[in-house]
Amino acid sequence: MALLPVVKYGDPILRKKTAPVENIPGVLDLLDDMFETMYEEGGMGLAANQVGLDMHFAVIDITHEEEDEAPRVFINMKVLESNGTSDMEEGCLSIPDIRATVTRPEMILLRYQDEAGEVREDQFEGLLSRVIQHEVDHLNGIFFTDHLTPAKRSMIIKRLAEIAEMGAPTTGIVL
Ligand SMILES: [Zn+2]
Repeated sequence: MALLPVVKYGDPILRKKTAPVENIPGVLDLLDDMFETMYEEGGMGLAANQVGLDMHFAVIDITHEEEDEAPRVFINMKVLESNGTSDMEEGCLSIPDIRATVTRPEMILLRYQDEAGEVREDQFEGLLSRVIQHEVDHLNGIFFTDHLTPAKRSMIIKRLAEIAEMGAPTTGIVL
């Protein structure tokens, strides 16, 4: 196993809509490193393009918050329906030191493939829904900061520019 470098805000791959995964066994070979990197960085989720891979999949583990859950892999995700709204503070391994409250749908119906390649449609809510939506955004080239109001964005725009210019050490949580 090996730790992978997490790319930061400003890297073009984080603005790219990632390519669908056709070779699922190829993803399985990457999972140990993805999970290890996510745990090392203190994240609850990690999208493939955050470690420089142009592939539509993400790993998620919220078990330290909700112990009934299990570590999960989501491949080729699409949000089919969403319902309600919720506010939650988010951070991002690719945007060190910035956290902000983001409004998102509370519940989603998600189509995705699991590690066996099985196409599934499941409903998610709460923290898992939140983390999934953050990772789906990554894989479509979107940052959580894109959801903020212009007034809120203006408060962090200087910091974003700094990260884009030089990169910065990652501290704190999360996705
Ligand atoms: Zn993130």
